[in-house]
Amino acid sequence: MLGVSHATSGAALGLAVAGFVPTLIGMTPSAGSVLTFAGVAAGAALLPDLDHPSSTATRRFSWASWLASKAIRPLSALVFDLTRGRRDTGKGTHRGLTHTAVGALFLGLAINLASAQWGTPVMLGTLFVCLALAIKGLDGLIPGPPSLVIAAGLTWAVQEYVPGGTDGTAGWLGAAVALGMVVHSLGDAITESGAPLLWPLPIRGRLWYPVGSPRAMRFRAGGKVEMLLIAPLLTIATLVLAVYAIPGALDLALSLRDQAVRLLPQAG
Ligand SMILES: [Zn+2]
Repeated sequence: MLGVSHATSGAALGLAVAGFVPTLIGMTPSAGSVLTFAGVAAGAALLPDLDHPSSTATRRFSWASWLASKAIRPLSALVFDLTRGRRDTGKGTHRGLTHTAVGALFLGLAINLASAQWGTPVMLGTLFVCLALAIKGLDGLIPGPPSLVIAAGLTWAVQEYVPGGTDGTAGWLGAAVALGMVVHSLGDAITESGAPLLWPLPIRGRLWYPVGSPRAMRFRAGGKVEMLLIAPLLTIATLVLAVYAIPGALDLALSLRDQAVRLLPQAG
């Protein structure tokens, strides 16, 4: 899958979960917490490919993300070697630990604990890193190096100007990280050679069984189906969900429309 499809699938699901799940249990989310959660899910949906030497995630933060990749690949290979089933093949460096649900839960839990313990700096840092990844994933749409400045500006704007800021996500922001990572692997499952999402459950002699849709239902990454159907649909879903899931966004959109309508006759 292309970066843009990974990022928008993370964003759409993040908006739906953060916008609608709290209301199901009788809570009202703030606009800031929905935006923070969705932004983090969008970027986390690129994170698993940190186990690939030339992916967007590995190249994003120059030597820092390169070093992270250098650490993750051997770790992933080690866990693969220790837990490989008799039919598992390959080295486990790419589409290994970072492409498992357990790996996603583990990192999510760590971010949950860190955000509960240290609060705002953790939420702002996570949001900045993830927004930078998401924007890099949209490179086809927003090209150029200023994207790190844009990510920093957006993070600051959410904290400063959106009601609630990032504050409401303390203790559960890691759920957005886990969600984004799992969505990435589901994306790989329908386009690539599958992802070992269910590790360490043994399936047909393999603990790293590559979960994927049937061959006939897979589409080629970056092919016509993705470019003309999947990516546009995910982008539209993200925009529609943004209007309905973020508290106050619908009112804002309606008042902008009214203002535009009022200005039109004068312009004519
Ligand atoms: Zn992947």
